[in-house]
Amino acid sequence: MEPRTASPSQMAALEDLAQMVMAQIELQHAFGRIDPISGLANRIQFFDDLEDLGRDEPGQTRQVVLVELAGHEQLNEGIRVLGSDYVDTMVQEAARTLRRLLGHGRPAYHVAATQFAFLAPLDTDMAEYTTQLGGMLGMLRTDGTFRFVTNATIGIASFVTGENAPADVLRTAYSAALDARFSETDIGVYASAEDAAHRRRFLLLEDFGAALEDPAQLRMVYQPRVDLASRRCVGAEALLRWTHPRLGEVSPAEFIPIIEKTSLARSTTASVIEMALEQLGRWRNLGLDLTLSINISASNLAEVDFAQRVQLFLFKHGVRPEMIELEITESAVMENTARALEQLATIDEAGIGIAIDDFGTGHSSLAYLQRLPAGVVKIDQSFVRDMVLGEREQRLVRSMIALSHELGYRVVAEGIETAAAADMLTAMGCDEGQGYHFARPMEADAFEHWFSGQRLRHEAA
Ligand code: C2E
Ligand code: MG
Ligand code: MG
Repeated sequence: MEPRTASPSQMAALEDLAQMVMAQIELQHAFGRIDPISGLANRIQFFDDLEDLGRDEPGQTRQVVLVELAGHEQLNEGIRVLGSDYVDTMVQEAARTLRRLLGHGRPAYHVAATQFAFLAPLDTDMAEYTTQLGGMLGMLRTDGTFRFVTNATIGIASFVTGENAPADVLRTAYSAALDARFSETDIGVYASAEDAAHRRRFLLLEDFGAALEDPAQLRMVYQPRVDLASRRCVGAEALLRWTHPRLGEVSPAEFIPIIEKTSLARSTTASVIEMALEQLGRWRNLGLDLTLSINISASNLAEVDFAQRVQLFLFKHGVRPEMIELEITESAVMENTARALEQLATIDEAGIGIAIDDFGTGHSSLAYLQRLPAGVVKIDQSFVRDMVLGEREQRLVRSMIALSHELGYRVVAEGIETAAAADMLTAMGCDEGQGYHFARPMEADAFEHWFSGQRLRHEAA
């Protein structure tokens, strides 16, 4: 091929063409990567840039900072009062402020409607940087037209370039920003799982006090206890439920161990007994004949007036003492002292039943348990569950039942989930059973319905 010589005008045309092609490419690249409202690069670009960083400079510890301009509620409220332009203006103003504060070469990304993200400079002193971010939050608030309605928070999450998936990095930073709503500084740092667990325990403890005052948060559910030989429902266990205003349902297996070591144990058990006895009184009036078991905490037995107060509650709701049974865990009994024994003795003398809950898990000696005035042992569900494993596990349960009978206890098996387990325990001579196979814990009205249904079935049989 012959080398060509281009005239200056041909050259100029070629250059124009090249420029047009480049512009076209850039435009295509930017398309779908720039947020039209803020003019900032969007989440797709953020993810791409993190991927690039992971490829070019892997193994670096970096921090992503996520700014959330307003919580959902605030946002909705703002839109309701000011119209949806309000969000656009707020976002534009915030984008401008962020751009100015971050300066050249430090891009901010618009990662969700009211969220921005950017990277902290390499090797920053995080304590100092957090203070700077606090200043940034202040600017965001005072610069905006709508400062009175926005309450921005910041979340910070560390990650290692090339190791953490960009989507995870953003999610953890977002989670920290959410947590920040409940912190003093409005800046949350995403921490390890243990820290998160610790914070959650603290939060639950802090919020439970309010729950005790709020009937919308705490209620009791009821799980039937069935006589194994006849399969009739003879009683129920009252179990506490907590609907946390923000976290939703929180299991008692999680919150009871936290609060029962604090001074809240007293008022918690008091409201549990109050709610349960009120229900039992109502059922008695409806002609439902059953015993109700109520869980109490170890520390309740250290209250000098505990037994007395229980009797007052009984009187108030017109419930006979034999209609209730207090469940206390085996390990709780072990922690206890002369005072606990005294309280238990008074409870027993009053005619109130006492059951040892979670039997088999507390490493207590039967010789010790013998000193307690309990009439019932509840074999822990772990033993019942393990019966499917084999002969050995079944023999263990059989011996627990035999031994408890020998010592004069009535035996209840917990956690019966299958017909096979129910039949096996019946054959072993276990007196009563409780578990999903018969029924799950139910709201009071569902329990009533279930109870009359099973009574009709028995009468028909
Ligand atoms: P627990 O007293 O041993 O109660 C039995 C637990 O086993 C309940 O869990 C019940 O829902 C669950 N369960 C029943 N049948 C089955 C089954 O077939 N399979 C399985 N996997 N589980 C079954 P829940 O309601 O979550 O309560 C957990 C623990 O929290 C209770 O264990 C008790 O120690 C404590 N708790 C619950 N309510 C109260 C309360 O009002 N006061 C106190 N102090 N503690 C409570
Ligand atoms: Mg129990
Ligand atoms: Mg139990």
